[in-house]
This record gives sequence, structure tokens and C-alpha cells, in this order.
Amino acid sequence: MLNTGEQITCPTFDEPGNFHLELRCEDCDIQRLAGLNLGQVDDRYREGRITQNCFEAYMFAWAVLSPAGSRAEWRETPTSPDVRRIARKLLGLRGFDVPADLIEKRTGAFAEAA
Ligand SMILES: [Zn+2]
Repeated sequence: MLNTGEQITCPTFDEPGNFHLELRCEDCDIQRLAGLNLGQVDDRYREGRITQNCFEAYMFAWAVLSPAGSRAEWRETPTSPDVRRIARKLLGLRGFDVPADLIEKRTGAFAEAA
């Protein structure tokens, strides 16, 4: 999977009509996810066109934005670092605030390098 960093870095990201195919690039997958509704995501997930991590991130983001309509299990903040990162990128891409408990706490020398 390409472009699995904290920020959107895919060089094709802002090029109209240019993108990586499904399941090849995290940034491009997230861009597609951001334009899909819940039913479309569910369908594509069942067809194997959306990764488990992207599916879980989308469902969490959807639950953050629609707490009353979401299922309880999707409202819990994900623990997987990958799911958490994808959820941050997805929410940020659409201009929504990222919940505080989804933001990683940076400590020590690692934070200096990041
Ligand atoms: Zn890409």
C-alpha cells in the first residue's frame, strides 16, 4: 500500500482524473471513501474493494458525525494505529474536526523526529 503516512502525500491527489487503483494507495482510497455514502461503502467492502482498515475508519468517522444513527460498536475510538490514522485523514479531508482521543500523543525523541 502506497502513501501510508500521516499526511496526504500522493502526487496524483490533486490531479483531476488521475489516481491509483483501488487497494494500491491509502491516499487515493481515502479520497474515494470521502465521496461515498454508507451504503456504497458497505457494498464495496463486501466486494473486497475497501480494506478492513479503511472500512473501520469510515464507520468510526461516520459514527462521529452521526452518533444517533450509528451502531454502538462503531462509536468506540479505534485502537489500531492504521485505522486511527486513516480516520484522521478522512475527517481532515472533509474539513471536520478530529476528535481529541483520535490524536496520537507524542512523547520523547520520537516526537522530535516526527
Ligand atoms: Zn494515490
